[in-house]
Amino acid sequence: MKFPFISLFLLTSLFSSPDEELIKIENAAPKSASATPIKKRQVLIYSNPSGFNHKSIPTGIKGLRVLSEKTKAFTATFTLSTKEFTAEGLKKYDAIIFNNTTHVQKAFTEKSQRKAILNFIKNGKAFIGFHAASDGGMNQWQEYTDMIGGCFAGHPWNAGGKWPFFVEDVNHPVNQAFKEKEFMFSDEIYQYKSYDRSNLRILIGLDSVKTDKKGNSKTNDYPVSWIRSYGKGRVFYSNFGHNKATWWTPFILQHFLDGIQWALGDIEGPSKSIPQSRNLK
Ligand SMILES: [Zn+2]
Repeated sequence: MKFPFISLFLLTSLFSSPDEELIKIENAAPKSASATPIKKRQVLIYSNPSGFNHKSIPTGIKGLRVLSEKTKAFTATFTLSTKEFTAEGLKKYDAIIFNNTTHVQKAFTEKSQRKAILNFIKNGKAFIGFHAASDGGMNQWQEYTDMIGGCFAGHPWNAGGKWPFFVEDVNHPVNQAFKEKEFMFSDEIYQYKSYDRSNLRILIGLDSVKTDKKGNSKTNDYPVSWIRSYGKGRVFYSNFGHNKATWWTPFILQHFLDGIQWALGDIEGPSKSIPQSRNLK
């Protein structure tokens, strides 16, 4: 009767393959923080979608965990609950990250919670949003859209395509990951409503005129990554993060880490808006 035990053991080892996704992320992540944190940074990472559920959410969680543990730039607390998003609950954090959180207006319905989140940033803390973090807000929560800088209005550039991007702000430290001023990359790219470039500093743009798709912008202005000041606080948003592979792409992880460290105040770099540099009609 010892055979069943052995077979079970063999079966278990056969089917429990190592987490290949995690290994790819660990290899792709920067070795260290781009700047030594001024103090120990506590970051609350919310990953619960209230609308479309991206399959890359768990990959994003792994990506952010690896960035935290490998580079020590911040300590990450992961949650799917909205419970800690109160004035009191947020006190111990330096930043909030929304990881592909569609339709936040349905998750945060209480006026006091919405106020707590926006005041947290206005009073000097950080907000970072990835991909579908901008798919929500308006009309029910316009102030959120105003804070993040724009609201998802469709994605003419689909996840399966490979699209041309350009570095809009070549000298910005949050763009140090991009060695070329232009690059091709595969991800799902949004057009926006309620977007006003004068409130944001656009770091990466989509070179839309080189694609066969047409979006909603009269000036072909399709921002992809940006930063902004919001009251005394800082915001970093990147549209990248739909595809799982985005989360194990070395230059993207470096860009994400630098955006997070900028928002935390550990990397300095201007947030004043800059004019559109190409594709102007
Ligand atoms: Zn998406």
